[in-house]
Amino acid sequence: YVQIEQASKKYTDTTVLNQVSLAIEKGEFITLLGPSGCGKSTLLRCIAGLETLDNGSIKVNGKEISHFPPQRRSVGMVFQSYALFPNMTVFDNIAFGLKMHKLEKQVIDRKVNDVIKLIHLSGKESSYPHQLSGGQQQRVALARAIVTEPDILLLDEPLSALDAKIRKNLQVELRNIQKKLKITMIFVTHDQEEAMTISDRIFVMDQGVIVQSGKPEEIYDRPQNEFVARFIGSYN
Ligand code: ATP
Ligand code: MG
Repeated sequence: YVQIEQASKKYTDTTVLNQVSLAIEKGEFITLLGPSGCGKSTLLRCIAGLETLDNGSIKVNGKEISHFPPQRRSVGMVFQSYALFPNMTVFDNIAFGLKMHKLEKQVIDRKVNDVIKLIHLSGKESSYPHQLSGGQQQRVALARAIVTEPDILLLDEPLSALDAKIRKNLQVELRNIQKKLKITMIFVTHDQEEAMTISDRIFVMDQGVIVQSGKPEEIYDRPQNEFVARFIGSYN
């Protein structure tokens, strides 16, 4: 469903993505796991169209999208910092993307209210971002990204800024929503424990290269090299 082939990207003379290839099924939850600086965010930004690849292709549903501008790609994105509009209510933040698509008001209201229920923000419709906790703000960011029903949802360390308990809750909820709506998600983290609990499959990255991919238990039980073993924590 999502097919990335030989994706490469350089900044001046540093190679950030080195012939990255990966294939993702529709409705799969995959995680890019790797240390700081290995190229995770760059890969997401290339999929979203916020950066262009130097070489390689990105296909979604068989269609080459690597030359499309961001707005022509059906891709949603959630960042570590929630990036909400501070002067808009929760409702308007979530409705923003739908208004851009010029949907009827009735349709917008219904879709936004459905997502608000799904993500447990009922009662917060008229609040402003500064009146919410970090976890609630990240729920709004998630709601805003899923309400437009993108083909792919990209999540760049969306839970990293939250404290442990809220983070655990949101991990479970995110996974439930993903299964319910059957959204294809690409999740980025450098936390191996988070990757193990949340993913259908993990792609371990190191220095712009995917060094191993597989189900969490496969990677844990059979790391292909010492880097993976150490990073996953199965090395003693
Ligand atoms: P982190 O876990 O810290 O977020 P990451 O895996 O997301 O790391 P990237 O942000 O993709 O890493 O960065 C990969 C490499 O590319 C880093 O060495 C970074 O310094 C470099 N890089 C990223 N963006 C730029 C840019 N706009 N110009 C120059 N170099 C960049
Ligand atoms: Mg990053």
